Parts: sequence; structure tokens; C-alpha cells
Amino acid sequence: MTQNPDRLRSIAIIGGGSAGWMTAAALANAVGRNIAVTLVESEEIGTVGVGEATIPPIKSFNAQLGIGEAEFVTATNASFKLGIEFVGWGTSDSRYFHPFGTHGADFDRVGLHHYWLREHLNGDPTPFDDCSMCKALARDNRFGPPVDNPRDVRSTHAYAYHFDAGLYARLLRRYAEARGVVRVEGRVVDVAREPASGNIAHVRLADGREVAADFFVDCSGFAALLIERTLGAGHEDWTHWLPCDRAVVMPCANAPSLTPYTRATAHRAGWQWRIPLQSRQGNGHVYCSSHIGDDEAAAVLRATLDGAPLGEPRLLKFKAGRRKRAWSHNCVSIGLASGFLEPLESTSLHLVQTSIERLLLLLPDRHHDPLNAEEFNRATINEVERIRDFLILHYHANRRPEPFWRACAAMPIPDELAYKIKHFTAHARLVSPHDELFRNASWLAAYLGQGVIPLSYDQLADARPHVDGAGQLRKLRELMRAAAETFPTHDAYIARHFRVAQSA
Ligand SMILES: Cc1cc2nc3c(=O)[nH]c(=O)nc-3n(C[C@H](O)[C@H](O)[C@H](O)COP(=O)(O)OP(=O)(O)OC[C@H]3O[C@@H](n4cnc5c(N)ncnc54)[C@H](O)[C@@H]3O)c2cc1C
Repeated sequence: MTQNPDRLRSIAIIGGGSAGWMTAAALANAVGRNIAVTLVESEEIGTVGVGEATIPPIKSFNAQLGIGEAEFVTATNASFKLGIEFVGWGTSDSRYFHPFGTHGADFDRVGLHHYWLREHLNGDPTPFDDCSMCKALARDNRFGPPVDNPRDVRSTHAYAYHFDAGLYARLLRRYAEARGVVRVEGRVVDVAREPASGNIAHVRLADGREVAADFFVDCSGFAALLIERTLGAGHEDWTHWLPCDRAVVMPCANAPSLTPYTRATAHRAGWQWRIPLQSRQGNGHVYCSSHIGDDEAAAVLRATLDGAPLGEPRLLKFKAGRRKRAWSHNCVSIGLASGFLEPLESTSLHLVQTSIERLLLLLPDRHHDPLNAEEFNRATINEVERIRDFLILHYHANRRPEPFWRACAAMPIPDELAYKIKHFTAHARLVSPHDELFRNASWLAAYLGQGVIPLSYDQLADARPHVDGAGQLRKLRELMRAAAETFPTHDAYIARHFRVAQSA
């Protein structure tokens, strides 16, 4: 068998956070020992150390690596996640659930939300998310995987995980090293480029060693050592749309029972996450530093913990935005090095996952055809901008009184988001000019949950009097409530199927 003589011989990953080790594991799985993969990381510098809530596609990442659920859940102290409960995002006292999976099951060609809307406009106060199996389970802290029968309402939920990102990186490190990835401990102090092409030739470590490779993956986190500091790929700033720029983080002891969902509670100038793991609860207050000081933000967090604090508050600074070119020359950036969107919808690790999948599809040879970078950058920009718009919706569609929230409600928004809101508000239509991660169920949850109520519903709902919309919705809710009771509690499910880890 003849091989491309110009195929890549070596790849160097710079950085060993979640992004670095996810990339290393996926490369090791895909190319085995046919390409030499080296990962450089610095214990002295450390990792961001947050990133605990995920969305359902993480399951396929683990499955592709052949990491089973039991191994993953026990190794990372994971718990299960059915969605996110948003508290205080519409008005200060409102609450809604963004479920994974669908809202019920359509019982007619007319979308379920049109029938719900007709009842709502006629005065029925039942919230839309009561048609969600995820919420029916979450309400009682119950969990179990969906059944494999599309005619059963217990097939309409989906799930992801909360987990300890540090332990996940350790699991992936063992996996990658067992398949030939070589880890180099050391601090990168310099980067050398080839004079003619401008490609990266090698990185130099503080002790003088050099690590050379045909291709580099920049997973150096916010430092963006290769993609920005060396190659100057540029950064597009989105703080005018996503103004939160800091987080104070502090874990605490768990509440008495483990909730199978993340909670995102809005505060006067930001919001707070609550992520239950088997071993502890992760908490963080994300805020806008021009509206609230660091000390007050930390005090708000401390005052609202569910259990005894475990450690001191830790401050993280960031800026919403994306790298103008995530791939430049012979270097692709993955993870925080490629940009940052705040963790409101738990999308960062997902973006790491899709960047890795895209890299594997577009893996170059040593000619470094710029078409690979062009396609990678096009697809990445589309993906990230669609997620960005979904996040902006949460800030823009609020009815809270504080100056921070009034400014968010008044801010100009991206054209495509304005287009979507216009169509939803007028006719309850969900339009999506581009392919995107968040589908109709997610947009419906955020719109209706935050009080964006359309003026009219699909006329077909009235033209089909034989369909008892109100009755069907009622039946669906009753069915879900009864179905939820057949599942164990989240605690019982974990205790029955997975060893409960003793330490963080
Ligand atoms: C407040 C906050 C909350 C978050 N919550 C979530 C969440 O709930 N869900 C989610 O999916 N994501 C979340 N994220 C994002 C998530 O933490 C990151 O996407 C993920 O951890 C990947 O980070 P990383 O590996 O790119 O960077 P890092 O973890 O910062 O790793 C960078 C690596 O580069 C190395 N490095 C840096 N400089 C050098 C150098 N000079 N020499 C050698 N090595 C170097 C470091 O040692 C480290 O190993 C959150 C992020 C923040 C800031």
C-alpha cells in the first residue's frame, strides 16, 4: 500500500487542560501511533479548572473513544443533567426549564407550541415547559435514561453530565498516553517560525528543550500562545453583546439530594451557576465588572451557597469573543485559545468537541493547503456565532429592573437574532437561516420562558377543530407526570448503577 509521502508525521499540542487532553485522546484514537503526538503542559501555570456542565453530544465523544458511561461517571464524580433551570431571567421572580430533548411529542402537524399558545392567549396559565419530560423528572429529582420506543413519552428526554473537568482530563490523559501520546512537562517561553512560510517550526521550553512538529494545536487557554501571540490571528470582541467579563468561583458541600439539572440564577449584574457533582457542588457568579465590584460579587456567591464552602473564592477574568482565524498557517486553536463564550448554556466543552471533529475531517498534509483552514474557519465562525446569538437572547429578553438588565434589554442585537425574534414575536415561527446547535426546543424554552410571547399562533390550529389541542396538552402533562414516577430518584439511580466516589 502506498502512502502519501507528505502526510503529517508529527503533531504537537500545547496545553493540557480539558481542550488539550480531549484533543490528544481523539487524535490518539483516530491515528494511533502513525502520527507522533506530543502534548506540552505546565503544572506551574495550571488550568482554568472549571467546565463542569455539558450538553448531550458529549456522550458521543466518549462513545467514539470507547469510554463507557460507567467508567466515565465513576472516574469523574459525574451526575446527570436533564437541562438548565433558569431562575429570575424574565422577571425577577420567574422560573423556566430549558430541557434537553423535546417538549412533549407533537400530536398533530401543527407544532405543539401553537396549541399551547392558543390556550395561553385564552388565559390558561400553565407554563409551556410543563410539556417537557425533562422537567417532569427534574421537578422530583428523578433520573433514568430515555426508553428506546418513540411511541413512549419516556423517550422524549435526553441527558448530559455534570462532572469534574480535572478528573476528566486525567482520565483522557491515561487514555492518550496508553495509545502513544507523549506528555512533556515544561513552560513554553518562545516560538520559532520558518522564515519562508511563517509556519511554526518549534516551541522552546524554559529549560532549553525544543519541541518541533509538522502541525500544532494551540490549547494554551486564554494565553493563546501560538494562535495570537505568535501568529496574530486577531480577536473579535463581543463584550458589547455579552458584557459579563468576570466570574468568582467557589465549590461547596452538596445539598441533601442531587438535582439532575444545572441551575442558572440571575442576580443584579450577572448570574450564578449551581452544578451538583457526586462529590461537591460547583458554584460560580458570572458578572459584569462595570456594574458590580469583585467583593460584592463574591459576597453574593457566599450568601447563596447550598452548603459549607470548600475553599476560598477564586476570580477569573475573560472577554467574550472569538479568534478571527481559529486556524492560521500550520496551527489550529481549540478551547479557550480560540475564543470564549460564557458558560450560560454549557457550550465550551462542546465547542472543543466539534473543533476536534472538524480538525479530523480537515487534517492537512505537510503542504498545508490553505483550503483546510478556510473551511475550518468558515464552519467554526458559523457555529460560534449561532451559539452567541442564543446567549444574547437570554440577556436581551429580560424584564428585570436593574441598570445592567435594562442596558441589556436596550442594546442593539445582531441582525440574524433580530430576524428570528421578529418572526417568532409576530407568528410564533421558528426560523433558522443557518444550521445551528440549538434547535427549536431550546429557542422555545428561552423565548416563552423569558416572556417573549407571540402575538398570534398558526392559523391551522383553528382550521383543525377535530384536533382537541387543549385536551391533548392536558393528557400529555398527565402522562408525563405519571411516567416520571416510574423513574428512581437521581441519587438512587447513581447509587444503583455507579460507585459513589469518595473524594473530589
Ligand atoms: C468561569 C468559567 C466557567 C466555565 N464553565 C464551563 C461549563 O460549565 N461547561 C463547559 O463546557 N465549559 C465551561 N467553561 C470553559 C471550560 O473551562 C474550558 O473550555 C475548558 O476548560 C478548556 O480550557 P482549555 O483547556 O482551553 O484551557 P486551560 O484549562 O486554561 O488549559 C490551558 C493549558 O495550557 C497550558 N499552558 C498555558 N501557557 C503555557 C505555557 N507557556 N507553557 C506550557 N503550557 C502552557 C496550561 O498549563 C494548561 O495546561 C468555563 C470557563 C470559565 C472561564
